[in-house]
Amino acid sequence: MIDIHVHFFPSSIFQAIWRYFETPGHGLWNIKYKVNNKQLIQTLSKEGVNRFTTLIYAHKQGLAEYLNNFIKESVDRFPELIPFGTVFAGDGKCERVAKKIFEEFKFFGIKLHPFVSNEQVEDIRFFPVYEIMQDLGKILVCHTGSVPVYKSSDGAIRLRKVLDQFPRLKVIVAHCGAFEYGDYQPLANDFEHIYFDTAMNCVHNSAFANNCPGRGFFLENQNRILFGSDFPNIPWEYSSQIKALKMLDLGETIERKIFNENAVKLLGL
Ligand SMILES: [Zn+2]
Repeated sequence: MIDIHVHFFPSSIFQAIWRYFETPGHGLWNIKYKVNNKQLIQTLSKEGVNRFTTLIYAHKQGLAEYLNNFIKESVDRFPELIPFGTVFAGDGKCERVAKKIFEEFKFFGIKLHPFVSNEQVEDIRFFPVYEIMQDLGKILVCHTGSVPVYKSSDGAIRLRKVLDQFPRLKVIVAHCGAFEYGDYQPLANDFEHIYFDTAMNCVHNSAFANNCPGRGFFLENQNRILFGSDFPNIPWEYSSQIKALKMLDLGETIERKIFNENAVKLLGL
């Protein structure tokens, strides 16, 4: 099994993220797995995950390169990792960082979290990065939907501005675009390389409602959907995510695609 949406930060940053999650008033949840990175890998392995991504993002200047270097060091130690890096437009050197992580570090892609970084996907300072990624076949994972607590719901419009310029860019829309599922289907219809990850979708829990795009979405996008969990920043047992998707009763062929084959194909593993 491949998990396309796993976070992998240095422990000091994980601690800060978890503190933020658990601060009352932020509308988030208590973290079930406050694990160190060795335990993180062990937990996933026990759940049947043999490869997983290292999604990182920066919320301020000067952090992106530090995180990218951390991922590079980690992937040299742990072959299970599928390295993803990040860029921060405010650093003023996106293109240089992109060349380093793709040409030198051989990362598979980047994660952008516009709500946390306060930098929009269609910011033209990212365009040189997208151009490199499109040429090299690298993957952009972006959290553009309003899930779980964000105010703006215009992510699909913003993403289209990127795709109009870079129509061959490979994009994974995190969380199936929740909660604006319907807005992302036209993107999938218009652009060949749009994918979705299932992180925190369809698990029925009080953490948040409306987290499932529905069985029809899975049937229609069966070649574009990749299993993801958001581990370790989840409020429930890891297996809840797997069970929730199996509950959709998609059949063995589609499940194989979602839990493994679509990712193998996209990542070229
Ligand atoms: Zn995430």
